[in-house]
Amino acid sequence: MIHKKPVCLVTGGSRGIGQAIVMELAQKGWSVAINYHHSQQAAENLMHKCLQAGVPARAVCADVSQSDAVEDMFKDIENTLGPVTHLVNNAGVDLRCLLTDTSEEDWDRIMNVNLKGPFLCCRRALPHMIHIRFGRIVNIASTWGICGASFESVYAASKGGLIALTKSLASEVGPSGITVNAIAPGPIQTAMLDSELTGEEKKELAADIPAGRLGYPEDVATLCSFLLSDPAGYINGQIIGVDGGWK
Ligand code: NAP
Repeated sequence: MIHKKPVCLVTGGSRGIGQAIVMELAQKGWSVAINYHHSQQAAENLMHKCLQAGVPARAVCADVSQSDAVEDMFKDIENTLGPVTHLVNNAGVDLRCLLTDTSEEDWDRIMNVNLKGPFLCCRRALPHMIHIRFGRIVNIASTWGICGASFESVYAASKGGLIALTKSLASEVGPSGITVNAIAPGPIQTAMLDSELTGEEKKELAADIPAGRLGYPEDVATLCSFLLSDPAGYINGQIIGVDGGWK
């Protein structure tokens, strides 16, 4: 292959869906950069697990919404693992709130992490990918970014923006041998879902899903790993649901 050494950066890789993606990639033996913001211990534990399995790994702190922090993170990864060839924009924050109760600060926080973060990481990763004429980018969007959701307008708008970014960038950099796709998960059992719904609400939701259950982080990680792989090279600009058939 043209890219001699796959180096994958997973933003928000410390826990939840990101952690499952890191584990899946580590099983392939790929070098993994585990980005975290607050969960240092979790990220370092995961890094040690990878290293013990003989997989090159690095835990890197950065708030993905800050361009200086993103620059420092990429430099750190380049100096330790090598240039990033595979990028997963997974870091995200949610907000369950009536639009009329949403502050300007809330809007900025959600948009900055969920949309500006992927923009900053793509912008920093792309020059090397274009240079080697190979790259894989997977953005973790949401069903809400497609369907919209009451009480979650701002979150849904950030994910809708990420979907538009995905499709646009896929056209822009496809000719350079780079694919850009998004996964739109339905409800996945992580701390994010726990913060939004009670146990009873989760049971009711699961009953509404044709698969009869909520998703696991591994359900998302399996698809993400495939989209990052060489055989997925003809899949570009797609938004793929992992939602148990839920609409
Ligand atoms: P989670 O368990 O709450 O984890 C969120 C992750 O994002 C954490 O690793 C966190 O890192 C990281 N993060 C948050 N702000 C960050 C920042 N400014 N800079 C760097 N990292 C930051 O959430 P999850 O459920 O795994 O969600 C992962 C992605 O899937 C998100 O984009 C989310 O919107 C999307 N998604 C989730 C669901 C669901 O039902 N769970 C459904 C659809 C889409 P630290 O802990 O280190 O701060």
